[in-house]
Order: sequence, then structure tokens, then C-alpha cells
Amino acid sequence: MIEYVPRSGPPEAMNCPTVVCDACREQVVDQGNIIWLAKVVRSDEATHEQSPLYAAHKGRCDRSLEAWLKKQHEQHEGQWILLWEELDDFLRQLSHNGANPFAADSEGTYHRAVIRHPKADPLQAPPI
Ligand SMILES: [Zn+2]
Repeated sequence: MIEYVPRSGPPEAMNCPTVVCDACREQVVDQGNIIWLAKVVRSDEATHEQSPLYAAHKGRCDRSLEAWLKKQHEQHEGQWILLWEELDDFLRQLSHNGANPFAADSEGTYHRAVIRHPKADPLQAPPI
């Protein structure tokens, strides 16, 4: 999850945006994945649904988070698939989309999605 981490010390106290692993709650640097579930849609008219986005270190953390996330969405109707993106690719695309409106893309169609939250909060019940 992208979070602000409070920092104290010189030259001044500040809040530092960073990516925190949703499995072990440590900072993710370089070797991480963004993970989410998306409902399979059969047409452009169907409602797009997805889980919130989560972050994890590669390896044990992302395997644990994937298993936890699949279990959280078992009760949701339809077929759900697990998706992931490497952290550095995600951050590059996020930075691009923060400065380039979708409306400026004359060739693509962007679909709104309903966010389906899991039944449990990973910050209250960590998957590891
Ligand atoms: Zn981790």
C-alpha cells in the first residue's frame, strides 16, 4: 500500500510517501509487486470490478498476500483473476498517468471500476 511514513530527525520532521508491504509491513524497495484481483468481464458494457491494490515483496510476501487475497474474494460472484505488476513498472505508469489525462488518449477507452473490498483488513489481520 502507498502510505506516508512519519520521519523525525534533521533537517526537520516530515512525512515520506513510500510503498509498504501488505504482508510484512516493511518498506518495499526495488523488488516488489503490486497485486490485485479483477473480475473477468465478457463485454465492454459489463461492470468492471476489482479489489483494492496491494503491495508486497517478491517471494514469500507476495505468495502469502496472493493466497490471502484469493480467499477474501471467494464469496464474490463471478470469476476473479489475480493480476500483478512489478513495482517499478507500476510507479512509472502511475507517474505518467498523474501528468497525462486519459481524455487526451484519442485511441483508448478507459473503464470505471467498482472496488470490492475484502472481508478482512490486511492491516488488522496480516496475511503472514
Ligand atoms: Zn514483505
